[in-house]
Amino acid sequence: MDKDLQGKTALITGAASGIGKAIALLYGQHGANVMVSDIDEVQGQQVVEQITATGANARFFKADVSDSAQCRQLVQETVSAFGSLDIACNNAGIGGEMNLTADYSLEGWHQIINVNLNSVFFCLKYELEVMLTQGAGVIVNMASILGQVGTPGSPGYVTAKHGIIGLTQTAAIEYAPKGIRINAVGPGYIDTPLLSQLSTEVKEQLVSLHPIGRLGKAEEVAELVIWLSSAKASFVTGSYYPVDGGYLAK
Ligand code: NAD
Repeated sequence: MDKDLQGKTALITGAASGIGKAIALLYGQHGANVMVSDIDEVQGQQVVEQITATGANARFFKADVSDSAQCRQLVQETVSAFGSLDIACNNAGIGGEMNLTADYSLEGWHQIINVNLNSVFFCLKYELEVMLTQGAGVIVNMASILGQVGTPGSPGYVTAKHGIIGLTQTAAIEYAPKGIRINAVGPGYIDTPLLSQLSTEVKEQLVSLHPIGRLGKAEEVAELVIWLSSAKASFVTGSYYPVDGGYLAK
């Protein structure tokens, strides 16, 4: 395994499960010190144990990313644990309420915007503060194919993911001259616990939307995030990268 992230510190939110867990493990395999963060402490600690078993450094910090103070504390803890913040992946997210727009509850709307969009702004803001003092850094925000197109029944999720792409582009332009690269990744439907709220029938329908003929794997998203986080992507910023089995092309 290429240790191209050796000596770098990587922070990842929503790292106790699914895509975030796969990214955290791969950051460790590439030699980074990993700050694993999630609201799920039990599973988060298990991810830390898996990373440290391979010889890499990892810590867990519990933070609810919909709370700006906890995002700030998470960034501070990362720097005090490892001495820098070189890479951040703002990944935590939920599926949220599924309802047509006119039926969508105000409570559900506020929840999805808080957890999936405000969280990315909070983390980005505090990560940038540190990276600006360092004069370098890389940030990857977890969007979705639903940051590029709509789908019936998920207006809140779609809005949050579109917002992440706009925020990514804006911040990337602002901070490219300061040595900070910021990109967004857009997975198609990936077989993780996030999809557990969907019936088998709906999952089969989702498969048919991907020309590759299956759902994606968390590890397939993680590979793209690692590349964007590394010096191999040194001329890449402000971009949105789908990893979607052809969903958007179709
Ligand atoms: P997952 O449910 O497996 O993992 C999400 C993790 O986020 C969980 O560990 C959960 O505890 C954590 N989390 C939830 N709310 C949180 C909060 N308020 N603060 C901190 N952590 C919180 O889901 P996943 O499929 O791995 O999704 C990860 C990201 O990928 C999400 O942003 C999701 O929108 C995005 N995504 C997923 C898919 C998919 O099909 N699975 C597709 C496109 C984008």
